[in-house]
Amino acid sequence: MVRRIGLFGGTFDPIHIGHLRSALEVAELLGLDELRLIPGARPPHRGEPQVSARQRLAMVELAVKDVECLKVDDIEFRRERPSYTIETLEALRDELGPDVQLLLMLGWDAFCGLPGWHRWKELLELCHILVLQRPDADSEPPQVLCDLIAARTQADPHDLAGPAGQITYIWQTPLAVSATQIRGLIAAGKSVRFLVPDAVLAYIERYGLYRATT
Ligand code: ATP
Repeated sequence: MVRRIGLFGGTFDPIHIGHLRSALEVAELLGLDELRLIPGARPPHRGEPQVSARQRLAMVELAVKDVECLKVDDIEFRRERPSYTIETLEALRDELGPDVQLLLMLGWDAFCGLPGWHRWKELLELCHILVLQRPDADSEPPQVLCDLIAARTQADPHDLAGPAGQITYIWQTPLAVSATQIRGLIAAGKSVRFLVPDAVLAYIERYGLYRATT
């Protein structure tokens, strides 16, 4: 049987139950062999990092420690510079070989911005794209993406064929939580208990993370 691996990138600053539920639901729905959370570089517009890349990674590791199908991949931290998704996929192909089925999870809004991504037309040579459709998403795909959708859509995510090349969709209602909200609560001296796993909460408290506003 060919292995099927989901890929879920994010800043995870910090990881929270919204990320975790979303990942777990996809892994269960599709019966994936594993789903890798891939912490990435912090986008440049966010200002001075208050929490190091290592600490964000450590929190993701703590969050998935006892969850069998969820894994952490630090592939984007192993390179000197922030990686483009296409380069991450190339590195994953080098590691996993050509046959593994790779499913890149993208929210609808991120998916609509795909034509702005570095070497975006090559992405489907390396993975399938699993679009998470959300009730509150309101982006419109540009024409060039509509053409790709028409050519590459596989309506049923269970019927994805081959290692890469198709676009499919899952409806998912996200939990109303964001990392921005969590950072804000902590900076205001409020508790984020039940918004992050207990082990992540303990780590945040131990190192006094997010207490100062950035
Ligand atoms: P921030 O508030 O700092 O922008 P975030 O909570 O949106 O962070 P990211 O690390 O930027 O988290 O997001 C990583 C991925 O997780 C993105 O694809 C994003 O759409 C998704 N995501 C974020 N929040 C949720 C949520 N509550 N439920 C499901 N997916 C989410």
